[in-house]
Amino acid sequence: MRNLSDFIAHRANAVDASGIRKVFDLAAKMRDPINLSIGQPDFDVPEPAKLAAIAAIHAGHNRYTQTQGIAPLRERLRKDLSAEMGRDVGDVLITSGVSGGLLLAILAIINPGEEAILLDPYFVMYKHLLTLAGGVAKVVDTYPDFRFHAERVESAITPQTKLLILNSPSNPTGVVMTEAEVQAAVALAKKHDLLIISDEIYEPFLYDAPRGLPSAGKLYDRTIILRGFSKSHAMTGWRLGYAAGPAEIIGQMTKLQQYTFVCAPSPLQEAALAALDISMTSAVDDYRRKRDLVYSRLSPAFEVVKPQGAFYIFPRAPAGKSASEFVAQAIENNVLIIPGNVFSSHDTHFRISYATTMEKLSAGCDVLCRLAK
Ligand code: PMP
Repeated sequence: MRNLSDFIAHRANAVDASGIRKVFDLAAKMRDPINLSIGQPDFDVPEPAKLAAIAAIHAGHNRYTQTQGIAPLRERLRKDLSAEMGRDVGDVLITSGVSGGLLLAILAIINPGEEAILLDPYFVMYKHLLTLAGGVAKVVDTYPDFRFHAERVESAITPQTKLLILNSPSNPTGVVMTEAEVQAAVALAKKHDLLIISDEIYEPFLYDAPRGLPSAGKLYDRTIILRGFSKSHAMTGWRLGYAAGPAEIIGQMTKLQQYTFVCAPSPLQEAALAALDISMTSAVDDYRRKRDLVYSRLSPAFEVVKPQGAFYIFPRAPAGKSASEFVAQAIENNVLIIPGNVFSSHDTHFRISYATTMEKLSAGCDVLCRLAK
């Protein structure tokens, strides 16, 4: 008889989630923690979007939609995104979250043994999805400034490299790529014949960018732009995202969606259309104030890069301590943060999510600064 573990495929065993599990195990023992670990907005879905979802359910939008998503939402997104990018962005596929779009894109693009470039620190899912696809994650270090260093990226490119994955604003650093950095990334992609996946899920959360988000999508038509509603409208549980890019690739992703997710949630696609007309400026202004608070409180005590977007900050643990050690100490003091080795090959920094109340944030900063002394 097989052991149950013998039923597990190599691809599942190849994914290691031990880093984040350790944090959750520690967190489970905390009572009413100051939780600065959560990767989602602390506001609720805007009321008009909720009402639109309820109305869509009552109106009978409860069946499968077309695999690619409902036409009015796709058309609206294509129009808006094309206006922002200054060119026709190609086809649009509505996905089950940006996670769904990432999975489909990687499955559509990466053959076993082919390589994709990630910038370290990275959003954890990239690495695991590449592993599932049999691909190879080539991790390029961006420490200590977390910027795009073209020469480091170029030296990681091999004849097997097919894909460059960018994430701006970044999880976990909050860094936003400059126009010059995006130009450099696109120049490398053109020179080495790479496709770009541009994960722009935090695009609305930009604090110092009056000209909008610099995006590879503006300069390079071989870009798959991934955006979603999880962060912008606090709809993480609604599972809604979208992918825009060359018809040939979006078409393959659509085919794969047909045999996996089938479609994104039907009534919520209707509500997403309504959500596009809701201004989220005050939420962004609120998070800018939180960014300012957390940066001004932590920068005297920690080595830290000022974030320009998303809702994370990624300070360095105090000298003489690994990030894991510092995080364990913070947890003993009732503050929950995430050690950088969950997102990185380094165990030197830690991630704070400032998507919480000013009071919790301020109390959390007090504890961290005290521990840094
Ligand atoms: N990309 C990044 C950079 C993220 O931080 C997240 C969520 N934590 C996602 C994609 C996936 O989000 P969702 O599937 O909810 O759209």
